[in-house]
Amino acid sequence: MNKIISKLIKEHSLTLNEYQKLTCGYNEELAAVLRDEAVRLRKEIYGNAVYIRGLIEISNICKNDCLYCGIRKSNGLFERYRLSSDEILECCDYGYTLGFRTFVLQGGEDGFFTDEYLCELVAKIKKEHPDCAVTLSLGERSEESYKKLFHAGADRYLLRHETADSDHYSKLHPENLTFENRISCLESLKKTGFQVGCGFMVGSPYQTPEAIAKDLKFIEEFKPDMCGIGPFIPHKDTPFRDYPAGSVDFTCFLLSIIRIIKPDILLPSTTALGTLSENGREKGILSGANVVMPNLSPEEARSRYMLYNNKLNTGVESAEKLEELKQRINAIGYEIVTDRGDIKK
Ligand code: SAH
Repeated sequence: MNKIISKLIKEHSLTLNEYQKLTCGYNEELAAVLRDEAVRLRKEIYGNAVYIRGLIEISNICKNDCLYCGIRKSNGLFERYRLSSDEILECCDYGYTLGFRTFVLQGGEDGFFTDEYLCELVAKIKKEHPDCAVTLSLGERSEESYKKLFHAGADRYLLRHETADSDHYSKLHPENLTFENRISCLESLKKTGFQVGCGFMVGSPYQTPEAIAKDLKFIEEFKPDMCGIGPFIPHKDTPFRDYPAGSVDFTCFLLSIIRIIKPDILLPSTTALGTLSENGREKGILSGANVVMPNLSPEEARSRYMLYNNKLNTGVESAEKLEELKQRINAIGYEIVTDRGDIKK
């Protein structure tokens, strides 16, 4: 194990086999060693700054039927909504006054959002807030569409790869969604010029140690600017309702490994971590994460954007409680800054 650890620290790269051995060797002692290195690297590049992103959940209407996701098309047990452009702009204006300099527009794959509509919206946000970054997280679109959005001013795009094992991918998604297409979208996004984020769920049903090793190898080779990982959490109205949630501590262990693989990566401590554990967000930061994404969506939208059970949207998850979040981050030795928070290459 010591050989693998020193190789990872020195070369930021392992073979699939080594990644698997490393993650299977997970225990608190090993986690502490990797955490120290992850925190050291993170401090070297980002000091003690924590970047914030204002998350705006623009629609819970989705044409897809991902088996894990609460807002999947087949779930008829909740109310659907879509924010108007004016509502989204209001969220940005409010977020700006709170100190947000990045807005993340996330949503289901809602056919209403044509390229023309989204380009106009992005251009408006960038015109009103030229010092802010706009991140989109709206799923799979064509390369043409990604190009238009980029030229309209969008800076970043988040599209989790969900799992880098194609068999596993097919167990998490309906037949019409393929691993090949997911990866080809990520390649297109990169080619277009976006800062790109990938990521996966930890502890999703059917996830094997091989799949996790492939996720880490994928991150090493794809070299994303951002990477969102969070524990899987079951949603009661999905086919995965009876599967157990992923582990907070194991997610934090993987955050440390990802920081070591790519020291300059923008790594969020996700809402799912905060949902499963009262101090999950802090644990993520202390394991090497450097981003948090409080919720800026209007109140009515939040309770309807339920990707999984009990998803947090109040307390320190909400933008209104930014002061409290700031204090909690200060208490562990870090500082939330007013900054676009681009990757420092
Ligand atoms: N439609 C967009 C946004 C999806 S929601 C897209 O396809 O990218 C954002 C992320 O939430 C997903 O990529 C997924 O990794 C995560 N997610 C969805 N359901 C979840 C669950 N039950 N538990 C944990 N994370 C979940």
